[in-house]
Amino acid sequence: MTAQDTAPSAPGKLIRGATGNWEIVIGLEVHAQVTSQSKLFSGASTEFGGAPNDHVSLVDAAMPGMLPVINAECVRQAVRTGLGLKAQINLRSVFDRKNYFYPDLPQGYQISQYKSPIVGEGIVAVDLPNGERIDVGIERLHLEQDAGKSTHDQHPTMTQVDLNRSGVALMEIVSKPDLRSADQAKAYVAKLRSILRYLGTCDGDMEKGSLRADVNVSVRRPGEPFGTRCEIKNVNSIRFIGQAVDTEARRQVDILEDGGTIVQETRLFDPDRGETRSMRSKEEAHDYRYFPDPDLLPLEFDQAFVDELKAKLPELPDAKKARLMHDCGLSAYDADVLVAERETADFFEAVAHGRDAKVAANWVLNELAGRLNKEGKDIGASPVSAAQLGTILDLIGEGVISGKIAKDLFEIVWSEGGDPRALVEARGMKQVTDLGAIEKVIDGIVAANPDKVAQAQAKPALIGWFVGQVMKSSGGKANPQAVNDLLKRKLGL
Ligand code: ADP
Ligand code: MG
Repeated sequence: MTAQDTAPSAPGKLIRGATGNWEIVIGLEVHAQVTSQSKLFSGASTEFGGAPNDHVSLVDAAMPGMLPVINAECVRQAVRTGLGLKAQINLRSVFDRKNYFYPDLPQGYQISQYKSPIVGEGIVAVDLPNGERIDVGIERLHLEQDAGKSTHDQHPTMTQVDLNRSGVALMEIVSKPDLRSADQAKAYVAKLRSILRYLGTCDGDMEKGSLRADVNVSVRRPGEPFGTRCEIKNVNSIRFIGQAVDTEARRQVDILEDGGTIVQETRLFDPDRGETRSMRSKEEAHDYRYFPDPDLLPLEFDQAFVDELKAKLPELPDAKKARLMHDCGLSAYDADVLVAERETADFFEAVAHGRDAKVAANWVLNELAGRLNKEGKDIGASPVSAAQLGTILDLIGEGVISGKIAKDLFEIVWSEGGDPRALVEARGMKQVTDLGAIEKVIDGIVAANPDKVAQAQAKPALIGWFVGQVMKSSGGKANPQAVNDLLKRKLGL
């Protein structure tokens, strides 16, 4: 037992059992496909899709005599990721063979890193839905090959093997057992994915399998040492990660409360049935007969290589959030939402450039996000560009249109496109600031409603009714400030 095993945990959600409370302990092993044109040790394409076995070199098919050659781009990506996780970068690491048989693993071993990974300990700051922030420890990040895929539904009596993924570079990112609830686990994976996407080291597409997690779960009485864990393999959505944690923790609590013991094993999560099922008993490291791959030299680079990559890292979510809060005066919540996806942050910054940042944030977070949501579109596919939205905000700022007309204009640009300034001109949407014209409208309404005039004079808040009437008869185009000023004067308020 290490000191960490009994250390007080960050507060998480306790599960209530028949015999008292239990705490969940979670550690995640995230497999992230490295963004690179070609595979970890061959020149074959990493492109998604394609006919089965279209992207397979002789190395990936493990033909006799073929030798792996390390892909420098994958190394750079792993180092950049390590830097993004504020982690120790190891200038010397070793590739090992992890030996096991699987029909879609033609080498009979996976090239991975075991004792000497390329990246050591790091840290990820995670903001929770309740506003709390926790630090999640990273144990290590290592590079390894992906395996191929067996398909069982392409032929009535045979299993077929597709080696397109065989040899594709993966980063396995192992967290410490620092997570204490399904919400924390979900927020951690979301944050990790956000960092990877900012870095451009993994596209984070869980539907395509570019990011998947092995979820290790145990339960214990608060303050007690860690319990025995089970590992739930290959969970491929953030929602399922949360469900897998809760389902598995509940299963373990039930067993323990019945006087049973947890057997360390590898399980699968079945989202349709809402249960985890045993897959195999847990294998131990020695079962794999790890040894350094004699085909590959240890991976070595110097500090200058690391420093150069570090100097070119993009601004990451935490730094961007701090900057938006400090420089633009945004709330922590708004900043969080804006920085979660790099595309959203870029869009916002383009709109806010040279404009009132709070107004820009409001429009991006409310009008635009709401509209995108409604149609299930990503911000990258927004029909209203940052430049167009920026022009709409300029038109409001210049007093050419009111905020209300701006929403109509936004709608027109959304569905028809076009230059907002030209649209305002062409469709006569300009705000009426011509005081004479507004005055005329007001005079008419005042004359027709002597009772309301008396009421408003007794209770000035009722001026709102007049404002509404004037706006209505001007088609929303009267300048609200001018309307208010004139009305006050006419009503003697
Ligand atoms: P393996 O390679 O056998 O799966 P690791 O030592 O790499 O084992 O640990 C795998 C993961 O299990 C890590 O993310 C770690 O945080 C997590 N873990 C270790 N012990 C526990 C535990 N008692 N409860 C929950 N998670 C744990
Ligand atoms: Mg594991």
